Amino acid sequence: MRGLTQDCLICRQTSSELICTYCQQDLTLFAPPLGDNNLMLWPVVSEGLKNVDFTQLYALADYQWPLSRLLTGLKFSAKLPHAKALAQLFVSHNIKSDFALPQAIIPIPLHSNRYLWRKYNQSYEICRHLSLLTGQPCEHKILLRAQTTKPQTGLSASQRKSNLRGAFTVASSSLAQLQQYHHIALFDDVVTTGATTNAAYLCLKKSHPQLRIDIWSICITLKP
Ligand SMILES: [Zn+2]
Repeated sequence: MRGLTQDCLICRQTSSELICTYCQQDLTLFAPPLGDNNLMLWPVVSEGLKNVDFTQLYALADYQWPLSRLLTGLKFSAKLPHAKALAQLFVSHNIKSDFALPQAIIPIPLHSNRYLWRKYNQSYEICRHLSLLTGQPCEHKILLRAQTTKPQTGLSASQRKSNLRGAFTVASSSLAQLQQYHHIALFDDVVTTGATTNAAYLCLKKSHPQLRIDIWSICITLKP
């Protein structure tokens, strides 16, 4: 909010915004050559995500400093103002007047054990702000983690896939709610191989095959 000053989350200089104008100008955000922010139309991105089923992906940038630091600060140190700053960046970068706004945003759920350990879900925290900024509801009770999955780190692509089979479920009490929608966004803070995001996407598709599901994310990891 203008008029109130705080420290910029990146450079710590006094700023009227969570991220000061200078740091915002220094960010290297995606600028697809065709001008369409759907990153799946951009070979630099889609060639690294060959095994996914989703066709619409909106994100801010490659997983690099300083956005990576804002994300890890949120995830591991509970720096909640980072969620608001990242949501603001996502909206100002992607949501222009001709943008097809989804009717709801669904955050990718954490497994409940990890939720208890960390006490909050970083994707949900960013989604709450995306919801406030877009006016569309954050539907965090529709998609649930179904079973304990091992952390994906260190697993091969095929191990990741089998680890994720059945990892998500649509809450039976929320099925009717989901089926009211024809277009939603599934939010995952970081898309790496796309395996987790795709498992959640397929779970929603299974419950509602006609649903348009866009993936929204802060960072994706581009293949070197
Ligand atoms: Zn700054």
